[in-house]
Amino acid sequence: MLFGARTDIGLVRKTNEDGFHIGGNLFAVADGMGGHQAGEVASRLALEVLADYPIEGADPQSSLRKAFQKANEVIYAKAQQDEALIGMGTTLTALFIAEGRLWVAHVGDSRAYLCRRQELIQLTQDHSVVGELVRNGDLSAQEARFHPHRNLLTRALGTAAAVEVDVFATEWQHDDKVLLCTDGLSGPLEDDEIRQIIQEHDDPQRAVDELIKQARKRGAPDNVTAVLIKLAVQDQAARGRQA
Ligand code: CA
Repeated sequence: MLFGARTDIGLVRKTNEDGFHIGGNLFAVADGMGGHQAGEVASRLALEVLADYPIEGADPQSSLRKAFQKANEVIYAKAQQDEALIGMGTTLTALFIAEGRLWVAHVGDSRAYLCRRQELIQLTQDHSVVGELVRNGDLSAQEARFHPHRNLLTRALGTAAAVEVDVFATEWQHDDKVLLCTDGLSGPLEDDEIRQIIQEHDDPQRAVDELIKQARKRGAPDNVTAVLIKLAVQDQAARGRQA
């Protein structure tokens, strides 16, 4: 398995509230929100809790859900203790590769995409007000990208005592790629541009660098983060030998 990853502050923001995690078969991106430095605290806590949580290969669905709920509790508790952190929250989108399947766990409007041959498929649903309007057919995806309320989330980690987590699995094939990214990438770039860049650069780090370069060319109004994983059949064979 090959991967590339980068986070970039962008051209407008003074801090980078995004973050990512890479460890073994677990990958994640997080996009924090909150006043002052609170967003940074929230995304960092989410990634730390996820990284420390034991994800069991036998039952990734349950462990991923528990890891997200634990992250929610930790961020929420921290926000209650410190006035400067009240209201902080974060997105968290995680990918766990196991047993020939991809597991995705997700809260917020960061995204996981599957790039298969000529296609780019968004695996996650945006937990945002405009995301719901698009799903209900009240707004086009194009209109959503420029909507004034596009940053309003319907679900985030750490903003309430409990959170609902999306967790699902999908099969993968040799040469599939999975992109995890924050809205600082999926906002400025259309899905078709993302697909083209991934297809033009087979090396995942080169593709990630190019994605971020293009987001910056569009003015990068937000922090930009991308993690791209290229899957190969030998990964499955390697896991088979370990088992
Ligand atoms: Ca963002």
